[in-house]
Amino acid sequence: MYEKKINVLRNIHSKKLYKKEILVKVLPNFNDHILKKPDWIKVRFPSNIDKIKNTKRILRKHKLNTVCEQAACPNLFECFNKGTATFMILGTTCTRRCPFCAVDHGKPLNINVNEPIQLSKAILDLDLNHVVITSVVRDDLKDRGAKHFSNCIQAIRTNRNIIIEILVPDFKGVLQDAIQTISVFPPDIFNHNLENVPRLYKFVRPGANYKQSLRLLELFKIKNSDVITKSGLMLGLGETTKEIIQVMKDLFNSGVNILTLGQYLQPSNSHIPVQRYISPLEFLQLEEQALSIGFERAFCGSLVRSSYHAELQYHKSLTILKGT
Ligand code: SF4
Repeated sequence: MYEKKINVLRNIHSKKLYKKEILVKVLPNFNDHILKKPDWIKVRFPSNIDKIKNTKRILRKHKLNTVCEQAACPNLFECFNKGTATFMILGTTCTRRCPFCAVDHGKPLNINVNEPIQLSKAILDLDLNHVVITSVVRDDLKDRGAKHFSNCIQAIRTNRNIIIEILVPDFKGVLQDAIQTISVFPPDIFNHNLENVPRLYKFVRPGANYKQSLRLLELFKIKNSDVITKSGLMLGLGETTKEIIQVMKDLFNSGVNILTLGQYLQPSNSHIPVQRYISPLEFLQLEEQALSIGFERAFCGSLVRSSYHAELQYHKSLTILKGT
């Protein structure tokens, strides 16, 4: 039944693919499958929202997008309240159609060539010491957006001494060239999320390839051995513990240093429903399992996202990775 529904969703997505700004809210309703959210998943709202407003003001001033807003992240209030955000470059329209994701998809606009400069100015205004930059997937671009990532890193480094973390798409079809491009001005942390287990890729991550994603992480590490690599999964989509552990092993064998595991939360009734809520105890057990496999650090919990507390994740990992 679950697979049948996902196929319906995928067909609707593909029929409308490349129509400008297709909003997920037009997709079918999965209301009948919604599990009650457990008590342990609680989003905290700050009592004073002045800092949130200020973060938004700076983002709008520099005409920048964040995945926090575009993907309806549950941690938005907490992160914006601390003056941090994960920037989303290369536009707000994705050329893929992953049914878990709240980002718009369709035909993207041209790249904003001023974005690297705008980004570097916003970082100064926000007074950040650590920045996370991600992007939509741009299969329409010859280099899949790799040069734009590189331009952003270069522009930021020119203005400020800061830790730069990039969360990249899979650079489908141009993997080697993309690695080459990004390695010219490498980030401090290179992150590519596997998102889920390979058995569910055709439903959860259509258009992506599990082995290619692993290869991206592995090849980047071979070329940039001193850059921390990181990857993550969102759980609760029907994967088994055995499958999660196998993915952990694959990531470890690809040289990945940091693992993040979080709970998938359905952004709207039109997205894939949550199949299971993972308990805090299970997350703890998975974290122990990851450490026993050999990861230097594993951050596991319901609201963990790869960019959540990214600065803290980095510093906690640094003590182990670089002995500082
Ligand atoms: S966890 Fe990441 S994506 Fe979510 S609000 Fe915080 S910085 Fe943004």
